[in-house]
Amino acid sequence: MDCLFCKIARKEIQAKIVYEDTLVVAFEDVNPQAPVHILIIPHKHIATSLELTADDAALTGHMIAVANKIAQDKAIAQSGFRMVMNCNRDAGQSVFHIHLHLLGGRPMSWPPG
Ligand code: AMP
Repeated sequence: MDCLFCKIARKEIQAKIVYEDTLVVAFEDVNPQAPVHILIIPHKHIATSLELTADDAALTGHMIAVANKIAQDKAIAQSGFRMVMNCNRDAGQSVFHIHLHLLGGRPMSWPPG
C-alpha cells in the first residue's frame, strides 16, 4: 500500500523511532512544532479516525497509554503536554494513516489555530 506511515512502520522509510511494539510505532515528527513532537501510529492501516470501530477500542487506548509513557520518558508529563489527532481537511490532516501527535516542552495556547 502506498502509504507513507505504513512504509515507516515497515521500515521502508527511515524515521527516528522512539518506541515500538506489536500494535504501534512512535517516531519523531520530521517538522516538529514543539521541543517534543512524537507521532504514535498503529501498524494497522486506518485512514482517519472516522474508520475506527469498537474493535479498535483497545488499540486507541493503547495509543494513548504509549503517549503517556513517552511523555514520562521525555520528562514532559508533569509540565504538561497535548495529544492531537487531526481528522480530514478542516483539521489539517495531511497523512491519511491515523496518528496521535504528542506535543510538549513549551506552553501551548488555546484555542488551537
Ligand atoms: P497531520 O497534519 O495531522 O496529518 O500530521 C502529519 C504529520 O506528519 C506532520 O506533523 C508532518 O510533519 C509529519 N510527517 C510527514 N512526513 C513525515 C515523515 N517522513 N517522518 C516523520 N513525520 C512526518
